[in-house]
Amino acid sequence: MSCIFCDVAEGRTSARIIREADDLVAFYDINAQAPVHILVIPKRHIPTINDVKADDAVLIGKMVLLAREIMEEQGYDRKGYRLVMNCNNDGGQTVYHLHLHALAGRWMSWPPG
Ligand code: AMP
Ligand code: ZN
Repeated sequence: MSCIFCDVAEGRTSARIIREADDLVAFYDINAQAPVHILVIPKRHIPTINDVKADDAVLIGKMVLLAREIMEEQGYDRKGYRLVMNCNNDGGQTVYHLHLHALAGRWMSWPPG
């Protein structure tokens, strides 16, 4: 089964990659919802947060830390930013390969629409 984010992770499709680690890739979202909109994905195909196992806890922690590091590098740590993981239909998930959104550069309303 084809997966667009596996294609990004394996270099089969172009993406504006910011960082690559052994097990993670961070790149810019093609349809930015904020002045800065980054996605952090595991290289391994995990469809949704529902599929995450206890053994993946370190991987999920690394995703958060990488997003934080990029937000710091780009100067958003003090002003703030939002990290979001959507799950399934009601959560607004459209790509079924786990990803963490990092959004910055504008005020994020709460609650989300
Ligand atoms: P979600 O709705 O949480 O599943 O988010 C999927 C995100 O992936 C959306 O914000 C899309 O704009 C983004 N997206 C889809 N295809 C690509 C791609 N090839 N490169 C970068 N971002 C993508
Ligand atoms: Zn995938």
